[in-house]
Amino acid sequence: MSVVYNFCAGPAMLPAPVMAKAQQEFLNWQGTGSSVMELSHRSGIYIEMAKQAEADLRELMLIPDNYKVLFCHGGGRGQFSAVPLNLLPAGKSADYIISGSWSKSAASEAKKFGDINVIDITKTGENTTVQEPSSWPLNPNAAYVHYCPNETVNGIEINEVPETNGVPLVADMSSTILSHEIDVTKFALIYAGAQKNIGPSGLTIVIVREDLLGQAQAATPCIMNYKTAADNDSMYNTPPTYAWYLAGLVFQWLKEQGGVSAIEQVNKAKAELLYRVIDESDFYQNHIAPEYRSKMNVPFWLSDDSLNGQFLQEAEEQGLTALKGHRSVGGMRASIYNAMPLAGVIALTEFMKKFEKRVC
Ligand code: PMP
Repeated sequence: MSVVYNFCAGPAMLPAPVMAKAQQEFLNWQGTGSSVMELSHRSGIYIEMAKQAEADLRELMLIPDNYKVLFCHGGGRGQFSAVPLNLLPAGKSADYIISGSWSKSAASEAKKFGDINVIDITKTGENTTVQEPSSWPLNPNAAYVHYCPNETVNGIEINEVPETNGVPLVADMSSTILSHEIDVTKFALIYAGAQKNIGPSGLTIVIVREDLLGQAQAATPCIMNYKTAADNDSMYNTPPTYAWYLAGLVFQWLKEQGGVSAIEQVNKAKAELLYRVIDESDFYQNHIAPEYRSKMNVPFWLSDDSLNGQFLQEAEEQGLTALKGHRSVGGMRASIYNAMPLAGVIALTEFMKKFEKRVC
């Protein structure tokens, strides 16, 4: 089969060398005669691998020692519940910044667990844009501020980290983690479903400052309690062992690429190329204000919607798959996470230019 570039928003493509290594080790991992997924999470050899994966993530993101890294179940949505359960005590409220559909979902789930102050920062006009962080009307007494730096569906990315003046900042980084350098110390808690830049679905990473542990609401299920997870090295219950292993391979791969700063440059080049081709054409459009355009998820629309089906079919024939836009916004969406090589975006843009020429 000729090369396929998979633009799915998640589960997304994984680096080819990672998949090849996993395949090679599939039936006999490290000479055990078993697949890694058949081994106990309590076995020495598994624990060693699990610790190495955490150490590699810490190195990649420069995570300080006063932060715990938790390997959890439940995906991003699991954290929509876990965050308020762990961080929102009775009598306090939390600020939820709305910049698109995922932050909206996070806020509506959080409302089940406490007093939520919703702050909608979206502005619609000719271009969709958001209020800049310094103008957000934050409550100085909030238990925490929650926001989503990269909205996977809407294609909105907020690059500036908001200044919360000591109020713990919580970020849903599901679709942006490891795509560019960040200063972890500016955040109290970062979470991310794995299925975009980390590994397969089924694993969720939580990076949480230690002083925030131990304040969970009484009814918090044990498997959602960060302190329980931290006290048990993320093995209070059986973790998603195979996903953890694959995430470890992805971290090693990323280190081999030169780490986050190196992949950030590739990601910039990919996004710039794709947006340039969109902007230079009258046939393709993206309606997000340039300073808030996502470098991971690029929605675009054809000027004639009736050509969507033909565009998708011909793209698929060229090995350019999963470009259909999210059902709530329509059009197309190219998700170009770390594992998407520049060659994939070049192939997409060449196809887009040819398609436009042919149909216009
Ligand atoms: N937050 C963001 C930013 C996402 O992109 C997604 C999934 N696409 C989620 C949360 C929900 O993640 P999950 O499906 O793992 O619950």
